[in-house]
Amino acid sequence: MQDMFAFADELGPLKIIHVQEPSVGLRAVLVVDNVAAGPSIGGIRMAPDVSTEECFRLARAMTMKNAAAGLPHGGGKLVVYADPKMPKERKQTLVRALACSLREVEQYIFAPDMGTDEECMAWIKDEVDRVVGLPREVGGIPLDEIGATGFGLRNVVDVALRYCDFELAGARLVVQGFGAVGKHVSRFLTAEGARLVAVADSAGAVHNPDGLDVEALLRLKEQGRSVVDYADAQRLDRDAVVDVACDIWIPAARPDVVNEANVQRLDTRLVVQGANIPFTLGAERYLHEKGVLCVPDFIANAGGVICAAMEYHGASESAVLDTIEEKLRRNTEQVLERARAGKILPRQAAVELAEERVRRAMSLRRWSIF
Ligand code: NAD
Repeated sequence: MQDMFAFADELGPLKIIHVQEPSVGLRAVLVVDNVAAGPSIGGIRMAPDVSTEECFRLARAMTMKNAAAGLPHGGGKLVVYADPKMPKERKQTLVRALACSLREVEQYIFAPDMGTDEECMAWIKDEVDRVVGLPREVGGIPLDEIGATGFGLRNVVDVALRYCDFELAGARLVVQGFGAVGKHVSRFLTAEGARLVAVADSAGAVHNPDGLDVEALLRLKEQGRSVVDYADAQRLDRDAVVDVACDIWIPAARPDVVNEANVQRLDTRLVVQGANIPFTLGAERYLHEKGVLCVPDFIANAGGVICAAMEYHGASESAVLDTIEEKLRRNTEQVLERARAGKILPRQAAVELAEERVRRAMSLRRWSIF
């Protein structure tokens, strides 16, 4: 087991807590990275192969995302070593035990991530009050149902286009991943005139240069089917979605999908990152040198966490969408202006901006870390 000083720098982590409750087979790690701006928010990831290091990286990413979004929250993350597809009764026991074991850790607010959902958050709410991402019936704002992240991405695209030499009307769009993020961003951007020419899910991809009908794709997903069942398109291998020429490419699936080995194949003018860490740094550098604008994940996909934080503070659904629009437009502009002025990667500009905000918050507190 690595000790926390293997990861430590000036920003954090504040604490790493290992949790074990053998009677229910619970093993988990909580990383509270930084709480200068307020108690940390970050999701619970349940998977058999999580690690303390992954948990720290994700917690730091939340520190940056929450700071960039100007939220009164620091970053944290909780990982649980377990198969999320276990029988529901067992999962409920595990999640409730997890909530009870961290009841006293007021610097962490529970939230959903891979392997946990709204229902898990409702179980936690029964045990501890500090939780977001709840079902509507117990006071939540269902962020995936309203498409909070997709709505944010649409606004980011709009601002980023000011730094490109094409318009949204008629722009060719490719979306990798057709889940909560991919579906909504496709819906929002095609409603504004973009043409979705290719889309992929885990089963494969489809391509039609004349455009795919998003409503028909959504109906397929509602029936539990894949985008590859779409009739009027050429079927491609899942990863061939990287080769489809387009103007806007949106990753909304897995980490590191575009990397040093395949970035040369990408033929696009604008990348707006819906997924978390979808491109390696080397791939982003390559695109930057080629003049392809790339808006980094923690700036572009903050719609979901803004929604979650506002739910925690009792906001209404309509106020949430207004705030996502305002914050993401302003942040995108600040990051892209700074990148242009300094001739630096947008990611570097975004990291500088977020770190400045964290350091400023730390300077305003008596102790930098409490
Ligand atoms: P999801 O599980 O709802 O959807 C994921 C989609 O990606 C599915 O359609 C799946 O079939 C597809 N997929 C999986 N592997 C693929 C592959 N190799 N190639 C192509 N498609 C593949 O997940 P989501 O909530 O839409 O999240 C997607 C990404 O966005 C994740 O990285 C997540 O961390 C990030 N994210 C989500 C939110 C949110 O609000 N849900 C917010 C910020 C970031």
